[in-house]
Amino acid sequence: MSCKKDNEGEGGPHHTELYGSTPKTSLPIVYHSDYNITFMGLEKLHPFDAGKWGKVIHFLKEEQFITDENIVEAREASEQDLLVTHTKRYLNRLKWSLVVATITEIPPLIFLPNFLVQRKVLKPLRTQTGGTIMAGKLAVERGWAINVGGGFHHCSGDRGGSFCAYFLFERVEGISTATIIDLDAHQGNGHERDFLDDQRVFIMDMYNRHIYPRDAYAKRAIKRRVELDWGTEDSEYLQKVELHCDGALNEVRPDVIVYNAGTDILDGDPLGGLSISPHGIVKRDELVFRAARRRGIPILMVTSGGYQKKTARIIADSILNLHHQGLIGPEREGLSSAATSPTSGPGSSGSALTAI
Ligand SMILES: [Zn+2]
Repeated sequence: MSCKKDNEGEGGPHHTELYGSTPKTSLPIVYHSDYNITFMGLEKLHPFDAGKWGKVIHFLKEEQFITDENIVEAREASEQDLLVTHTKRYLNRLKWSLVVATITEIPPLIFLPNFLVQRKVLKPLRTQTGGTIMAGKLAVERGWAINVGGGFHHCSGDRGGSFCAYFLFERVEGISTATIIDLDAHQGNGHERDFLDDQRVFIMDMYNRHIYPRDAYAKRAIKRRVELDWGTEDSEYLQKVELHCDGALNEVRPDVIVYNAGTDILDGDPLGGLSISPHGIVKRDELVFRAARRRGIPILMVTSGGYQKKTARIIADSILNLHHQGLIGPEREGLSSAATSPTSGPGSSGSALTAI
């Protein structure tokens, strides 16, 4: 089950601060104000919102769904955590602005000088990554979790894009398979390269076929591939989401779903090239959660790409809709009672956790 034995001390998992216990009263929504990248004024010159994560939280507070006290504060992934999946060489590559701009899909980062990338961007990235790992554990315990950041799905280089799956495999007893549902507008070649020929991970990827990265080698890892054309609209898109989510989950029943909920599918996105409305995004997230919850499969959502000014409002609206639909919320902790697996149910997955 272990991924990289050379990174594990004395035969067990490496030490990490990311898997502490969380009060049962907290919602499994993970965030830290350190997620937000400040551009030193560059943000005013571009239509990119690299503070979207903080705004999502602001809107959720405004609607009184969350408070500072009832969500989970992310912790920064340490170098030791990152080395579970990344090589030192890869971590050094992150010092290049171009690499960071690519994996985050935030083009203005190219203009940041190296010392600012290190100071202003790597800490937010490490904190968001820590948040994804924490949310993975919470999803297994509670049936669902949302990291308000994370989802850097072009992250590979020397491999290691899907921290969450690696950590779950390493840490959580009973978690041996995962399905990644990647609905960001871009192909998720990072995690695909990670899991080429890895039978533990089933990847469904739905993306604009004409845009970056068009990584034919990585495509071999996709078990359910849905390629979209320029300007795809809501009705076709949502029909495909429903059809293929159900298809993927009927084909293989995973122990956990990692849902990459990129919002760069939104109409007008300068990178995505699709034409999905705000309502379409809300509906998409609902369809994915419904498919997971109906089957009683834990689901972790990360927010990934999409940085238009209105993106934060849409993500917040989507989370509120999931709550209104009864798909998430304090009253629905634990797995769905409609679970098809006889072994699932409130508490059962939590009790499978190894003591850390
Ligand atoms: Zn994207």
